[in-house]
Amino acid sequence: MIVVMETGSTQSQIEAVLARLREHNLRGHLTVGEERTVVAVVGAAIPPTLREELEHFDGVKETVRITQPYKLVSREVKPHDTIVQVGEVKVGGGHLAIIAGPCSVESEEQIKATARAVREAGANMLRGGAFKPRSSPYSFRGLGEYGLQLLAQARAETGLPIVTEVMTPADVELVAKYADVLQIGARNMQNYQLLEEAGRSGMPVLLKRGLSATIEEWLLSAEYIIAQGNPNIILCERGIRTFETATRNTLDLNAVAVVKKRSHLPVIVDPSHGTGKWYLVPPLTLAAIASGADGVIIEVHPDPDRAKSDGGQSLNHENFMNLMPKLRAVAKAVGSNW
Ligand code: PEP
Ligand code: MN
Repeated sequence: MIVVMETGSTQSQIEAVLARLREHNLRGHLTVGEERTVVAVVGAAIPPTLREELEHFDGVKETVRITQPYKLVSREVKPHDTIVQVGEVKVGGGHLAIIAGPCSVESEEQIKATARAVREAGANMLRGGAFKPRSSPYSFRGLGEYGLQLLAQARAETGLPIVTEVMTPADVELVAKYADVLQIGARNMQNYQLLEEAGRSGMPVLLKRGLSATIEEWLLSAEYIIAQGNPNIILCERGIRTFETATRNTLDLNAVAVVKKRSHLPVIVDPSHGTGKWYLVPPLTLAAIASGADGVIIEVHPDPDRAKSDGGQSLNHENFMNLMPKLRAVAKAVGSNW
């Protein structure tokens, strides 16, 4: 349920609403917008009479029932797009995140060469995994803290903010020391302790959709982060498992349009994991932006054939560079830019 306050309602009127919620063991989450202040009611059991009770309060315009199980991430609570600020880069509300870089940080030369190349081509953030979730325990699992240090060096050289994955709650503090955006991977979308720890960090979080997660489950995972007081969330559609075997995953662009309707949070697309094939990345990148996504995250490697992970879905520097002018044209057509 949300309580919409009258324009010009006073602090003490808002406080009276919050106090009544506390009496019911509920919490009120304030969103102060330009036109109105909204109190989102969160808690396990909302008494059926509460709406009537609150509608009589001074300063209350109306109460609205929210039927979805997620609250704070919903457009009903906050009608306007959330813009997540990452350093000088804005994401959402027409501002695109163009994140590029290798699947894994492999060496100083590799990450720096790619950082320079994607920066030159027009990317505004650098990706690279230092802690890699791998299906096989025998695959390359990342350089760990040394990888984070290399990312920080690449940022110092290029100015690009860093997006990198954190896999456990215990590593949030370490990764937050180096990163600008904490990536929570598909396999960890329902690691609720990790979501809460990332929420408490206050850092921007890139939340990937789980391999078999419904849109509702994905938004509920985002709710875990925002409920910790951290609204700096960028959702990322990265393909889901279906019966189709021609591609690694099935990139669900429906989800972009659905999420934009239901939530105020920005949503970007990962066409690399979404397709699993480098030659499908350019068309799906363009389709993602055309479908209303607030950006893309693309795997780029100086020599994909020799990549330690996900080489088959990585663009080389030249292919990434050639994609950018087309991406600018599509962005312009749908009224967004970076
Ligand atoms: C990645 O970004 O390299 C990655 C492991 O992604 P996902 O969690 O979507 O599989
Ligand atoms: Mn990858």
